[in-house]
Amino acid sequence: MIHGESYKPIVAEAAKKSADKIYNRIMITHLLMDEAQENRVGGAVGFNMRTGDFHVFRAKAVIVAAGGASHIFKPRAVGEGMGRTWYAPWSNGSAYALPIAAGAKMTQMENRIVLCRFKDGYGPVGAYFLHLKTYTQNANGENYEKKWYDQTKELVGEYIDHHPTPTCLRNHAFIQETMAGGGPIHMVTTEAFQDPHLETVGWENFLGMTVGQAVVWASQNIDPKYTNPELTTSEPYVMGSHATCSGAWVSGPEDLSPPEYFWGYNRMLTIDGLFGAGDTVGGSAHKFSSGSFTEGRLAAKAAVKYIEDKKAEGLKVSDKQCEDFKVKVYKPLENYTVAQNEITGGTVSPSYISPIQGLQRLQRIMDEYVGGIATNYMTNANMLKRGLELLAWLEEDLENVGAEDYHQLMRAWELKHRALTSQCVTEHTMFREETRWPGYYYRGDHMKLDDDNWHCLTVSRRDPKTGKFSMEKVPVYHIVDENEKKKAS
Ligand SMILES: Cc1cc2nc3c(=O)[nH]c(=O)nc-3n(C[C@H](O)[C@H](O)[C@H](O)COP(=O)(O)OP(=O)(O)OC[C@H]3O[C@@H](n4cnc5c(N)ncnc54)[C@H](O)[C@@H]3O)c2cc1C
Repeated sequence: MIHGESYKPIVAEAAKKSADKIYNRIMITHLLMDEAQENRVGGAVGFNMRTGDFHVFRAKAVIVAAGGASHIFKPRAVGEGMGRTWYAPWSNGSAYALPIAAGAKMTQMENRIVLCRFKDGYGPVGAYFLHLKTYTQNANGENYEKKWYDQTKELVGEYIDHHPTPTCLRNHAFIQETMAGGGPIHMVTTEAFQDPHLETVGWENFLGMTVGQAVVWASQNIDPKYTNPELTTSEPYVMGSHATCSGAWVSGPEDLSPPEYFWGYNRMLTIDGLFGAGDTVGGSAHKFSSGSFTEGRLAAKAAVKYIEDKKAEGLKVSDKQCEDFKVKVYKPLENYTVAQNEITGGTVSPSYISPIQGLQRLQRIMDEYVGGIATNYMTNANMLKRGLELLAWLEEDLENVGAEDYHQLMRAWELKHRALTSQCVTEHTMFREETRWPGYYYRGDHMKLDDDNWHCLTVSRRDPKTGKFSMEKVPVYHIVDENEKKKAS
């Protein structure tokens, strides 16, 4: 279990010791590209969220490690609960939007995750299952998962017999049971919590990760020793580290990768000199926090080697490129300054939209068309097509997003990054014509898992000039032998 309060300073200290100079509170908005050689990174630009200063980092190599994407789908917590999500609120999609905008290839962006969590506080359940041996039941006290075995087998075949049961398939049973009227679903805590040690572990789990869950229970008079707390399934999140594998298509390591999946430097994206780590990197799930910082170390070592190998010689990043970005970056402030006199009703303006208005519009499109909670995670090609149309209009309107201060400027850029990430997610969801992860999302027009055609990785690239995405399938290579895997599990 993560103990963030002690863990973060340890990781931060190591990072601090290895850096010559640290810049805090800079939001990176764009990657700079080399003008001497095509498809080579040249640095990054951003602004200080407190002072508003513009920062240009000319660099021979760049590592993107900006986390995943929460808040692209409408969350369950809206109105008074807005901002409460399971994945971190700073996971603003920058990790994906920065490389996508520069033309890097992405993989598995359809592979969003839906979490089974304690209701309203999004408190994690993993430690409860593993350490406390608690279990779930429907409103009638039944083990509902067994009821959905045959139906799930129809959809996914032998995957339902894997041990442990894949998380999405447990979600699937949860969702089906709720739709069939068996809810609410509860976690049975009242047995485990009679043991004082397990009771302490149960509470500490939240103190290290999601203090808000303890507060929610207190506010609802739930003591898990005497009352079994309710569970829910979350809105979808996109990430590359926590069980799912969305993110950038990067070179594998020299020793393990098939030759076509190694292009010189471990963790390098399809743009020369651009590296990724953690949530940024796709196709390598189950990194979590220790895997993410280990990947950061791998990426850093590879980036140093790239520079030492003189791959970044002769970089050219003109002042004009930087100045052009500067104008773009501050445009939301300009939009607000020009249009503020037209504001009516406190927040409504005919000439600009605020970041929060844009965010709510984005979340609604993703929720209703791309398989969020509004449709019980269901979508299909027609819905996705419509979603893409609406996202394209949103992109157009985001030219008119307005920011009244530097904090809102950050919100404006978070929104633009989330919107671009969402386009990529939708394109990928449209491309994969099967339902590989029932419980995370369903393609209603292709309800079954289809190993014959889709046992592959999906890869996209957005052309930076036209904004058009192209898609391809690439093979999955099993590095660990199937029998070994079975023995291990
Ligand atoms: C509730 C919860 C519980 C979890 N429990 C566990 C656990 O028990 N064990 C475990 O191993 N893992 C756990 N995880 C997962 C773990 O936290 C993630 O896998 C890990 O943090 C991912 O690391 P990262 O470095 O890729 O991203 P992050 O840790 O999210 O770091 C990304 C950083 O980039 C910054 N950033 C974003 N955009 C920009 C930008 N444009 N410019 C500059 N900076 C930017 C962000 O502010 C952030 O500091 C949990 C996660 C959550 C949300």
